[in-house]
Parts: sequence; C-alpha cells; structure tokens
Amino acid sequence: MKVCKFGGTSVASAEQIKKVAAIVTSDPSRKIVVVSAPGKRFSEDDKVTDLLIRLAEQALAGQDTAKALEEVVDRYRQIAQGLGLSEDIVHVIESDLHQRLAGDQNDALLYMDNLKASGEDNNAKIIAAYFTHIGMEAKYVCPKDAGLLVNKRPERVRALPAGDERLVTLRDEPGIIVFPGFFGYTEDGTLRTFNRGGSDITGSLLAAATEAELYENFTDVDSVFAANPTVVDNPVAIDKMTYREMRELAYAGFSVFHDEALMPAFRRSVPVCIKNTNNPEAPGTLIVKERNNSTQPVIGIAADDGFSTLFVDKYLMNQEIGFGRRLLQILEEEEIPFEHTPSGIDNLSVILRSKFITAEKEARIIQRAKDELKADDVHIQHDFSMIVLVGEGMRHSIGLASRAASAIARTSASIQMINQGSSEVSLVFGVHKKDETKILKELYVEFFKESVVLS
Ligand code: ASP
Repeated sequence: MKVCKFGGTSVASAEQIKKVAAIVTSDPSRKIVVVSAPGKRFSEDDKVTDLLIRLAEQALAGQDTAKALEEVVDRYRQIAQGLGLSEDIVHVIESDLHQRLAGDQNDALLYMDNLKASGEDNNAKIIAAYFTHIGMEAKYVCPKDAGLLVNKRPERVRALPAGDERLVTLRDEPGIIVFPGFFGYTEDGTLRTFNRGGSDITGSLLAAATEAELYENFTDVDSVFAANPTVVDNPVAIDKMTYREMRELAYAGFSVFHDEALMPAFRRSVPVCIKNTNNPEAPGTLIVKERNNSTQPVIGIAADDGFSTLFVDKYLMNQEIGFGRRLLQILEEEEIPFEHTPSGIDNLSVILRSKFITAEKEARIIQRAKDELKADDVHIQHDFSMIVLVGEGMRHSIGLASRAASAIARTSASIQMINQGSSEVSLVFGVHKKDETKILKELYVEFFKESVVLS
C-alpha cells in the first residue's frame, strides 16, 4: 500500500487534477491520496493558501471581504467546471468559507488556521468528487474523523503519536482515501495548521502510521538535484539518498521536500520517493535509510541566505562555567532558536536566522550580554549565507574539507565560519551573502563536474 501526496502545482487546475487521477489509477497500490490546496498555475499566479491568508487578514481587520472571498471561490469554480462537476460542490465550498469567516476571532492565529486549512480541505472534497464522478471508488476523509491529532497552543504544531492508533485503520477502508494535507486537530477538536508547505508532513504521518510500503511525494520536478538548478546549469539528478542527507539539504534551502516531513517516515523506515506529476514515468529521487556512498561521498550542495552572527568575546571565557548556557538562555528568553555555535578559546559565535531578530531584540541581547555576562565585546552581524556540503560518504573520505576550502579560495571569497558536526554528514561554510552564488558554482564544479547520476 502506498501513500501519495500531490503538491500545490499538481492540483492547481482541472487539467492537473486529471493527471493526478491517471497516476492514482495506474497503480492499484496507491491507496491514500493527500492533497495540497490549489497552487500556482503560472509563475505570477496566486496560491489559494495566500488568497486565504489575505482573506483572513481582511476579516480580522474588519474590512469588506467580498472580493477576496470571490477570488477563492472562483478558483474552485474553474476547477469544478473543468472537471465536469456540477455547481453544487461550489456552493458547498462557498458556504463552508462563509462559516469559517463567521468563526470566533478571539484567537487570531486559530481563526487564521481555520481559513488557511480550507484550501486543502475543499480541494480534497473536489478531488474526491471528481474521482467518484469518473467511476473510481474514492471518498474524502476529514483529518478530525481519521484522528490526526496535534498538540495544543501555544507550542509549535506537531503531530501527536497518540493519533497513530486510529490512523492505521485507514488501511482497511475500502477504495481510495482522499485526505487534505496541512492540518490536524487537538484533542479538544481545535484545528491547527502545520508550517507552510506542511502537506508533506501529513503525507509522511499517514505513510508512517499505516506502515505504507512507500510514500510518494508528487511535485513539479523530475527529481532532487545536486544543487539549485536556478544557480547551477543542469545539475545532476540524485536518484537515491538517505533521510539524513535529505534533512541536511532541506535545512539549507532544498525546498522540494519540507524539512519537518522526514521524521515520521524515517522513524518507521518508510522509503520516500519524490516524483513529477507532469512526468510520472521518470523514476524520481528515492530517500532511504542507507545508500552505497563509496563512489560519491558528496550527494548535494545547498546554500541559503538570511543568517546573522552573534559574536561574544570575553577574556578567560573558557574557564567560566555556565557561560554558554547563560548566553543561550538570553536567546531562549527572546524566543530565538540558534543554528550553530562555533567557538574559539575566549569567544563564541552563535549563528541565527535573521528572520527571528528584530532591532529591539538585537539591542536587548547585546545589552544583556554586556550587563549579565560581562562580555568584553558583543556584536551582531547580518547578511551571511550558509553553504552546506552534504553526503554520508564524507565520513570516510580524507581531504574533502581541503578540496572544498581550496575551491572557495579560487573564488577569492573569505570563509567566515566552518562547522563540521560530529555526524560528519555535512560540512557547513558561513560566507558573506554576496559571495554565495560564485562559491556554490565553484563547489559544484569541484565535486560534480564528472558525475552523471548519483546513487
Ligand atoms: N497549501 C499550504 C501552503 O501553501 C500547504 C502545502 O501546500 O503543503 O503552504
């Protein structure tokens, strides 16, 4: 039994949904179909989720929502018409949206979640109706009825393992299950959405709970590539990689698969395959527990910008018990997660994602580090990029860091930070954002220019 998830572009229009039906019927083991909200049909198009966010914002601000609502309804109307479905389903969707808009606004986040989730929920209803319309045995299943449990506010949304007991019974349901991605319910029945792109998480949760033989994640590219194809010309395709490699690549910008989505599949060892709805014959990229890494130690190179460095220096810091903890506690109290902490003898840098730092937080952190930690020097610098070399085979290869550093030296850029975790699955270089592209290109040439397909 397989679980397949279709992303936004795969379900953006009637034409795309017809491809989904063909893919599902072509393999009888495709049993659970998780769907996103309609995504972009062309590059300047809006994702329905973004339209819904705008709609919710207008409602929360007490503005007139008629136009924004009509825009959402119209997307579904076009889909329903293109699929040959009656106008009834559009009315069902419209009244569902009215109901959500009239909901409780006391907790703005939950109100927003409720509207955002309608994107996948209503799309799942339309897709299930279409499957039935063309003679497939299929039904829509609501995550609440299925038991997809998530934790309560205020923590970050996570699925609760307690839900698995009920989710496993989806295996025994007759026909195809069409399941909306992106959201679940707390034990007291409150809807909460995962982070953006979170339908991948739903798919992975269902694949793990039902112990599927495979989790197929259908998107709009043939495979995962060894480097960002918008920066490197024709990067090689990766045909097989490990969960850990995918996780490291997703960390630094490989957005083809949500970084939180791997964990459920990984825990139950369900293989994941990234495939293309527009070219389902292509084998895609398989993500598994282990791969033979003797010939290709590096599987991919990721690069991401938007990092800042908090630099703290204090004479004899190395002898001061609890210094690191107290510094990190300041960040915890400011609700800023940290990424890396490379250190010297008397100094420590903490790499942070810039999006979590406001001007007020920055000023407070610097002041507190000076007052409470008596640091000699504290400052925060912005505009850094992290370039991450990823591969399980790096553990056994000698001279790899030297090859990478030499490649970077050829670009005349300077390295601001190097971090190799003890797992040795990745090697991270912190560089100035302005140097990111040229470094990525040079590293790609160094590690991939001879390669064909990686496995
Ligand atoms: N529709 C949601 C988003 O755009 C979730 C998803 O597509 O996975 O983020």
